[in-house]
Amino acid sequence: MGYLELDDRIDEEQRAVQEMSRRFAMEVMRPAGIELDKLSDPADVIAEDSVLWDVYRKVRELELHKASIPKELGGLQGERDPLTGVLIAEQMGYGDPGLAISFGVSNFPFRFAAMSQEPELQQLARDYCEDSKAEMIGCWALTEPEHGSDWILAGSEDPKCGPSVKAVLKGDEYILNGQKAAWVSNGTIATHAVLHLGLDSKRGMGGTGIAIVPLDLPGITKGKPLNKIGQRALNQGEIFFEEVRLPKKFMFVADPDMGTYMGQSILTGANSGMAALFAGLAQAAYDESLKYAKERVQGGVPIFEHKNVKLKLFDMFVKCEAARAYVRRLSRYNVLNPPGSLQHAIAGKVLCTETAFHVASEAITIFGGNGLSKEYVIEKMFRDARASMIEDGENGVLALKGASLL
Ligand SMILES: Cc1cc2nc3c(=O)[nH]c(=O)nc-3n(C[C@H](O)[C@H](O)[C@H](O)COP(=O)(O)OP(=O)(O)OC[C@H]3O[C@@H](n4cnc5c(N)ncnc54)[C@H](O)[C@@H]3O)c2cc1C
Repeated sequence: MGYLELDDRIDEEQRAVQEMSRRFAMEVMRPAGIELDKLSDPADVIAEDSVLWDVYRKVRELELHKASIPKELGGLQGERDPLTGVLIAEQMGYGDPGLAISFGVSNFPFRFAAMSQEPELQQLARDYCEDSKAEMIGCWALTEPEHGSDWILAGSEDPKCGPSVKAVLKGDEYILNGQKAAWVSNGTIATHAVLHLGLDSKRGMGGTGIAIVPLDLPGITKGKPLNKIGQRALNQGEIFFEEVRLPKKFMFVADPDMGTYMGQSILTGANSGMAALFAGLAQAAYDESLKYAKERVQGGVPIFEHKNVKLKLFDMFVKCEAARAYVRRLSRYNVLNPPGSLQHAIAGKVLCTETAFHVASEAITIFGGNGLSKEYVIEKMFRDARASMIEDGENGVLALKGASLL
C-alpha cells in the first residue's frame, strides 16, 4: 500500500479487497475526479456523456452499493466485516473524496427503505441492488437555506426556529412544502431522497420526521448544479417541494419525538464515513509529497535531504498514522454497537478532515510553486479537504454538538 500496515487484524482476503480498492481508486476514480474537477460548468459534470456515469456504473459492477442492504433483499449486508468496510472507504477517499461521497450518499434512501416493513419500500431496496446502470441515485436532504447548523445541532424546541420543509398529514398522505439547500449532495441527479422535515411547527427543530421520497412526484423541482471550490466532482443542488402528496407509508420516521434521535444516528454513520474518506485523502497528499520530495532537486540534492522538508514530512506522517488508527477503531465500534457513539464519530470527522487539510496544506509547501499549479493534484486535494471541514456539519458546530455529549 506504500505504507507499513500496522493493523495485524487484516487477513489475506481483506488485504486483497484493500488492494483492489486502491487499484479502483487510482485507475478509475483519481483520473475521473481530476477530469471532472477541471470542468468549469458543473452542469457538464452530470452531462450524459460525462465520465461520472462510467465510474458510477463501475461502482455498481463492484457491488459496492449493496453493502448496507440485507441479503434477503439482494444486498450484501453482513458479508463484509466492519474493518473491510473502512479499508474500502479509506481507499475511495484516497482516489477522490468528492466521488466517494456521491457514491456513499447515494445509498442512504435505499438502506433506510430496506429497514422498513412496507413492501413497496423494501422493493425499492431490491430494485437498487439490481440497478447496474446507476439509474437510481439517492441523496440525504437535510440542510435548508435558512437552517444549516440548526439541523446539525437539532433538538431545540423554539417554535421561531423550525424547519423550512414541512409535512402536514391529510388522510393517507402527507403534503410537503419548502426547500432544501443547494448543498444537498447528488441534489440534482438524485431519484430518491432521505428527507428531514418538520412535523410539528410548535416544536421548532425538535418536532421532526424523516421521509423516503421518490423525487419524481408532482410538485418536486430541482435547482441547477452548484459551482464550488472543492469536491467539484460531487454534484450538489437545491430541491423544491410544492404541495407534494407523499403516501403516508413513505414517512419512515413519523413520530416527531424520534426525528432528532434518528437524525443523530444518521449523523453518526455519516461522520464515521467522512472520517475514513479523509484519512484516505490525508494519506494520498502525504504519499504525493514524499515522492515529490525524493525527486525534486534543489541545492544539488533531493529536497527530502533538507531538514525542514524532512521534519515537515515526519509531522505529516505522524498525523496520517494517528488519523487512520482512530478511524479503524471508531468504525469498528460504531458498526458493531448500533447506533454507535456520536461524539466519537464527530471526533473522527473533525480529526480526519483537519488532518487532511493540514497535510494537503503542508504538501503545497513541499511542492513549492508547483503546489499551486493545476498541473499537479495537490491543489485539488487541498480544495477537496477544505470543503470537508464544512461538509456534514461545520467542524466548530460539530465540536459543540460533541461537547454537549461529554
Ligand atoms: C461538500 C459539502 C457537501 C455537503 N453535503 C450535504 C448533503 O449531502 N446533505 C445536506 O443536507 N447538506 C450537505 N452539506 C451542507 C452542510 O451540512 C452545511 O453546509 C453545514 O451543516 C453548515 O451549514 P451552513 O452552510 O448553512 O452554515 P451556517 O449554519 O450558516 O454556519 C455559518 C457559520 O456560523 C457558525 N454557526 C452557525 N450556527 C451556530 C451555532 N448555533 N453556534 C455556533 N456557531 C454557529 C458555523 O460554525 C459556521 O462557521 C454539504 C456541505 C458541503 C460543503
